[in-house]
Amino acid sequence: MRFEVSKVLDAIERRLSTDPALARGVVDLAEIIRYADLDNGRPASVLRLGLVVDALARYLAEENIQVYAVVDRRVLSDADLTSNERMVVRRWADDGQVEVVQKLGDRLLEVAGLTGLPVVTRVPVERLPAAQHPWLLNEPGRLLAPVPGPGGIALVPRVKGPVKPATGPRYTGVLARLWHCSEGNCPAFGEPGGLFGDVTRRPGAQPPPRMRQGVPTCPRHDSRLKDAGPRPPAEALVVRVDGVVRTRFVVGADGPVVVGRAPTEQGGVMLGPWLSGEARRWVSRSHVRFDLRGGQLTVTDVSTNGTSVLRNGSDDEDDEISLNRDDTHRLGPRDVVEPHPGVEIARPGQWASGGAVNPSSVMAEAPTMAMKIVPR
Ligand SMILES: [Zn+2]
Repeated sequence: MRFEVSKVLDAIERRLSTDPALARGVVDLAEIIRYADLDNGRPASVLRLGLVVDALARYLAEENIQVYAVVDRRVLSDADLTSNERMVVRRWADDGQVEVVQKLGDRLLEVAGLTGLPVVTRVPVERLPAAQHPWLLNEPGRLLAPVPGPGGIALVPRVKGPVKPATGPRYTGVLARLWHCSEGNCPAFGEPGGLFGDVTRRPGAQPPPRMRQGVPTCPRHDSRLKDAGPRPPAEALVVRVDGVVRTRFVVGADGPVVVGRAPTEQGGVMLGPWLSGEARRWVSRSHVRFDLRGGQLTVTDVSTNGTSVLRNGSDDEDDEISLNRDDTHRLGPRDVVEPHPGVEIARPGQWASGGAVNPSSVMAEAPTMAMKIVPR
């Protein structure tokens, strides 16, 4: 059973990111591990994070979503967790896959405010400082409450109204800069592009600093951060296959990203597992390359069969541009790159829904003994 639990924790680990361009929601691990009513289980369990990841995936109808988890440092020594869970959370903390804070305060709302992400919490809206964070009330869908539902939890927006698809953070103000923490080996604000554990991070993937009286501060070390220059530009892109958002990736100024059936280039995005039939034969191992230079995002065809670009996502043939090998196109804000019909790459916010009726669960490997979902 221990082996199976480790596999679930590994699956959850792949869904953790403090990169503002890739995370899809902000969560408080200390709160989630104590959702004991979900399974009538132990007082604390890290596996409950998997239920929240699944719930956010279902809410967004999207595959392979990632969450930005904030962890009060007391969780690292929480005696209600198993020693294995404590060890795993400490590793996530040291690798910067979760953000450790000295004291939670309003850090969840600060991260959500700076990144434009929704917050998942059971704290009622009346107890949140909505005066300092007006988006809590003004933007439906930004405050999501976990309630009992299929698979353990469903997320419901606390504020009713039309929900706009998230377009990702705007890199303005403190997010326009990189910050450096003087503490050695700081996983969040260490040397840009540094190696933490076995995780290398893109320099522009740095999480937002914590503001204390207007001073950027390290959330983990509470020390004042030094300005380390402008944040390198980056653009997030979304991959949709057969109407379902499968993954997201980031193109930075540090190098191109190749997308294809099975690209061999470092950092390539592999479409293979999602392709079938004609698409599988049509899409090349390396099919398109995205470059970000001088703030311009371009797509270059590197395939055998060519690529279409649908200008402004339009189905009209007059708006379709054909790229043949080595042709480059400057990507407009709503252009959709189509290596094959049904295989689409576009900017976030292009599609209102992720289109996944039943996103795959991170809990697939969970032993039934460790996680008894309370039937409702
Ligand atoms: Zn630090």
